[in-house]
Amino acid sequence: MKLIGLTGGIGAGKSTVTDYLIDRGFHVLDADKISREIVLPGSDMLLQLAELFGNGILQEDGGLNRKKIGSIVFSDPEKKEQLDRLMHTKILEVIHERIFQIREESCHDAEAIISPERAMRNKVIFIDAPLLFETGLDKSVEEIWVIDAEDEIRIRRVMERDGLNRDEIIKIMNYQMDRTEKNRRADVLLDNSGEKEALYRQLNLLIQKI
Ligand code: ATP
Repeated sequence: MKLIGLTGGIGAGKSTVTDYLIDRGFHVLDADKISREIVLPGSDMLLQLAELFGNGILQEDGGLNRKKIGSIVFSDPEKKEQLDRLMHTKILEVIHERIFQIREESCHDAEAIISPERAMRNKVIFIDAPLLFETGLDKSVEEIWVIDAEDEIRIRRVMERDGLNRDEIIKIMNYQMDRTEKNRRADVLLDNSGEKEALYRQLNLLIQKI
């Protein structure tokens, strides 16, 4: 089973691509979702974080106070690195567990023998990871698809989607890996500066080649 990493900057269209792939029946792992799951109340990771950063990072309901932990690491690069290392290691561990599970299930998927769609679905696992390069996950995948759109287009789409203002979005963009560098590392570059239909057409061509 081939592992394909999907990435791109804020508002580039990662969720739009993964929604399309999920609709087509493909396996898609969502690194952002996993990063939220591993810090659910009572999780080992949350306990570890409380030991490192103090119980102040816990909310009354036992959940993670993201604002609090954000303010701690914002002013302390060493703590930020510690937090990133812990989180990234755990995310990679969970992703590898899930890949193993999917591979096991697909080996016993009798339907794949009679269904070409099912057989196709079992050929690949997509991993949606906004921080694919930063977490080192790029080294675990065989192919990297980068979704890209012009900065101004991404700003407009995120403003519409999240109600953030322009400066807030630019600040996030500046924190992310440089767009040119991301694009340079792509095996496949999906241009999402046009209509969604144009993106889906590019995806259809790629899916046919899997
Ligand atoms: P983030 O990095 O913030 O998670 P993302 O890369 O997952 O963003 P999406 O959520 O897929 O990006 O897209 C951002 C917004 O732009 C969404 O509201 C989406 O519906 C819209 N969008 C994506 N592609 C297009 C397109 N080609 N035309 C119009 N709107 C689009």
